[in-house]
Amino acid sequence: MRCTVVGAGVSGLSCAERLLECGHEVEVVADKFSPDTVSDAAAAIWYPFLTAPAERAEAWGVVTYAELERLAREVPESGVMMRDGREYHREIVELPAWKDEIAAFRVLEEDEIAEGYVFGWEFRAPVIEMPLYMPWLRSIVESKGGTFRQSFVTNLSELDGEVVINCVGLGARELCGDKEVQPARGQVIFLNQDPGIGHFDQQPESLTYTIPRSDVTVLGGTAQIGDWGMDIREEDNDAILRKVEALWPDLDRSRIVGGTVGLRPSRTEVRLESEKVGERTVIHNYGHGGAGVTLSWGCAEEVVEIVSRFA
Ligand SMILES: Cc1cc2nc3c(=O)[nH]c(=O)nc-3n(C[C@H](O)[C@H](O)[C@H](O)COP(=O)(O)OP(=O)(O)OC[C@H]3O[C@@H](n4cnc5c(N)ncnc54)[C@H](O)[C@@H]3O)c2cc1C
Repeated sequence: MRCTVVGAGVSGLSCAERLLECGHEVEVVADKFSPDTVSDAAAAIWYPFLTAPAERAEAWGVVTYAELERLAREVPESGVMMRDGREYHREIVELPAWKDEIAAFRVLEEDEIAEGYVFGWEFRAPVIEMPLYMPWLRSIVESKGGTFRQSFVTNLSELDGEVVINCVGLGARELCGDKEVQPARGQVIFLNQDPGIGHFDQQPESLTYTIPRSDVTVLGGTAQIGDWGMDIREEDNDAILRKVEALWPDLDRSRIVGGTVGLRPSRTEVRLESEKVGERTVIHNYGHGGAGVTLSWGCAEEVVEIVSRFA
């Protein structure tokens, strides 16, 4: 089928790749491309965070984990590698449903838990270096025959293609009039120092993370809902550093080399469903919040499955 994918973030490019792989014709239309999408600002580790509905997200996440783990093993130029991390909790919580689906998972011993916390686990997960991954993903789409066009879309029904895949993230607020989609502002710091193991507290109210990439370690974070500010704020940097130092006291502030801000496309639930818009069949795939990379391949495979019903 002739498919038009709107959006060139991780959601759109993953869908484009999977559709091409299944023999469909694909054009990607977007107003912004890498390095100017939200996806380029993602930290990014595989971890279902700030996303719902839980059961679908878990299934999408597990599919994505397997694909990212394969990329880490077989395609190093994709910028994916496996790293160990520790997640800390201030109370005893249920273990995550995905614990048996990943490469390594264990509950922490008491003497391994950071001060101020009472519970936690160690897990192995893909770290995705977005400055490498996004261009790689685009090159894969191009090598399979996908084409790209720069355009700001105002009406989904006016696009070419038998099926339109809507992967516009935060853009759905305007394009679909979906006011459920809101920015969850994320600010991060880049540090030229490796913590060895990643440290995480992924509760939205106390969000703290250190994600070791090969070039820098990404320190976060913030998740400010409804905040559209794109400037780096000193007060957010101070708060991030204080939170990270509580988990990683050896952090050396003199090794800070930069930072960035991105607006996660948060929504009560990911919208992945088909709809008739005018004469056009549209498959929506947006609103992935803090887990767009984590869910990307799982969502792309569901999109392909829906497209096959219209073929
Ligand atoms: C600081 C930070 C850290 C993060 N860390 C992680 C992490 O560790 N793990 C994780 O899984 N996720 C993480 N995320 C979340 C992740 O970045 C997002 O969930 C993901 O990037 C969403 O991807 P997307 O492709 O849906 O949207 P986007 O990347 O926003 O792409 C949307 C695309 O649609 C285009 N578009 C929008 N409107 C229109 C229009 N009207 N016409 C044409 N084109 C349009 C845009 O130009 C763009 O190409 C993080 C985000 C931030 C900000």
